[in-house]
Amino acid sequence: MIRLCLSLTLLFALLALPFASQSNNSTVTAQPRLGAGRKYSTIERLNLERLRAVNQDLQKFQRLRGNVSLRTGLTDTKAILHAHAEDSAHTGGTRPELLAAAKNVGVKIIMLTDHVRPPKDFINDSWRGLRDGVLFIPGAESEGFLVYPQRPIIAAHINKSFKSREEYVRLVKQDGGNIFLSHVEEKPDWETGELDGLEIYNIHSDLMDEGEFVKWLQGSFTNPDRLKQIEQAVAEFPAEVFGALQDYLPTVIAKWDRDLPSHRLTGVAANDCHHNQVFTVKAVSNDAIEVTAFPDPPRKITTAQAPRIAEMLKGRQAGDIIAKLDLDPYERSLSFVATHILLNELNESSVRQALRQGHAYVAHDWLCDATGFAFIAERNDKRIGVMGDEVKLEKGLKLRLAAPVAGTIKLFRDGKVIQEMISDKLNFALSEAGVYRAEIWLTVDGELRPWIYANPMRVAKP
Ligand SMILES: [Zn+2]
Ligand SMILES: [Zn+2]
Repeated sequence: MIRLCLSLTLLFALLALPFASQSNNSTVTAQPRLGAGRKYSTIERLNLERLRAVNQDLQKFQRLRGNVSLRTGLTDTKAILHAHAEDSAHTGGTRPELLAAAKNVGVKIIMLTDHVRPPKDFINDSWRGLRDGVLFIPGAESEGFLVYPQRPIIAAHINKSFKSREEYVRLVKQDGGNIFLSHVEEKPDWETGELDGLEIYNIHSDLMDEGEFVKWLQGSFTNPDRLKQIEQAVAEFPAEVFGALQDYLPTVIAKWDRDLPSHRLTGVAANDCHHNQVFTVKAVSNDAIEVTAFPDPPRKITTAQAPRIAEMLKGRQAGDIIAKLDLDPYERSLSFVATHILLNELNESSVRQALRQGHAYVAHDWLCDATGFAFIAERNDKRIGVMGDEVKLEKGLKLRLAAPVAGTIKLFRDGKVIQEMISDKLNFALSEAGVYRAEIWLTVDGELRPWIYANPMRVAKP
């Protein structure tokens, strides 16, 4: 089954709507349900006043940001899992473009996930190894998973030689390949016992509830006031505009919490970046425009369908570009969310091992760079484990957490919040076995937004 990616879903939604009906300035009456921590809908978040307020809070975090003295003993390295480049007709970005963006935003690991398009081999016909200081690991988005096999498996895809999901998992894992459940919201009952982990955040999953925003965006192509607003917003507050869609994904996290007690399962972030959210509005005659949403052919809209187009065409010649919106250049999607991997060394085998062990956390670095965040276990003041590890319940055992800025820390045991406080650190004396994980949320423009999701410390009965 072929997955519809971020791009496709957004574009299909756009194209399915009649342009004319969206051209007037009607406000959406049905109030969309707001997710955890939200006070504002995505459309409200895109108001310039809101974006400015978010930007001010982000600057404040930057000023307050300090070094974390608590140590994991490993190097915090930003990685992007689930990245598309040069892999399909609906992907706009290239690998050199991805590399340049990674260097600019401090990402050191790119784990590619090509759409499977035989005969192209997503391992051999891709990038592998260090390029300009960025480590590339090739893989695919396939059969509902993110797969990073050690060796090419394209022949198995062509010959359809795996007969079940279990066989496919075994094939990918052969000789140490990695595999993660992708688009978890659609797979609440999928077996995860043999997997390395799952996507606890996915930009595409987050977009699923943005129907009102998609309509609003489409309406802006035939509404000169709104078009001006969104152009200005993207120019002045690009990260804040991208971040407006951000939500907590409760059904995905619930699946993680359900499966964690029985086995280790590393939570990772999925950027699902393609660099393909590019929209162009062009004058084609004195009474019509063309709207192009990559990669589809242009669509013509006339003043008869949407009268306010006339204002946009004033003083324009046929062929003039009225507006171009580039919403998702790689730099922006890469800095929105990342999986921070705790490494001994920057090489493929260390990355694979760390991901298996859960030596990682997910962070929305666009809010504040989370680098340095630590979540460890200590016994008698000596570090005996880091996030992802399993430690034995013994006297003198405690959990310690520290972050570069203060936020709302939530400590969970077996999926339930057992402590919540506003701080940049937490010390917790352990008296019960269980799976302990932590989240930190930041208050931004009066809204609570998820910032850090730590992988769990497993505390086993003595
Ligand atoms: Zn795609
Ligand atoms: Zn994808």
